[in-house]
Amino acid sequence: MALDFTALEELNVIKTASIHQVPKDGSELPLMEAFYTIQGEGGNTGTAAYFIRLGGCDVGCHWCDVKESWDAEAHPLTPIESIVETAAAYPGKAVVITGGEPLLYNLGPLTEQLQARGIKTYIETSGAYPISGSWDWVCLSPKKFKQPDPSVYPFAHELKVIIFNKSDFKWAEEHAASVGEHCKLYLQPEWSKAAEMTPLIVEYVKNNPKWRVSLQTHKYMDIP
Ligand code: SF4
Repeated sequence: MALDFTALEELNVIKTASIHQVPKDGSELPLMEAFYTIQGEGGNTGTAAYFIRLGGCDVGCHWCDVKESWDAEAHPLTPIESIVETAAAYPGKAVVITGGEPLLYNLGPLTEQLQARGIKTYIETSGAYPISGSWDWVCLSPKKFKQPDPSVYPFAHELKVIIFNKSDFKWAEEHAASVGEHCKLYLQPEWSKAAEMTPLIVEYVKNNPKWRVSLQTHKYMDIP
């Protein structure tokens, strides 16, 4: 009988993640891609930012839309000086470090160099590993497949919970109970379920106004 790969993925049986010898001093990082665009979701929606996507993730979300990021070995180790130099060339002085799961790595030197150049540092993380780096904005987006490290919650400026099915609202509340009182709370439909989940999110936010709706507006704008 043929293996149903999709079914195995949904059961979270198949994972591909390999973290190669990234220097522990943070001097080089596995860079998958970097691009200047508009932040499409969450608290900084609509603002220009340089996105740095690092390879490597062992969280294994079956609906992940960047599975090509999972294997860190597929992405070149890149000196942080060259990452910073390229970022500094753009007029928008904000960088979003995403992945993959960027907290797999020591992000101290990269973020310190960016801030020294007057660039604000934002991170998008599942929180699966403790915080490293110096951050102007931490977006914690917890995933069921690998729960956040408890030490990450106090750093979150923004909690962004992806709603894939109805049970995720209860799960979102569990995480909201762990962040600080000034943390902004967002519910965002998973892209493939947006038509089904967005009306539920709208009703939920109307009834629970501590939450806000987040949409992946970059997908509607057809930009990366
Ligand atoms: S944490 Fe992010 S990069 Fe990793 S599997 Fe989940 S959605 Fe994909």
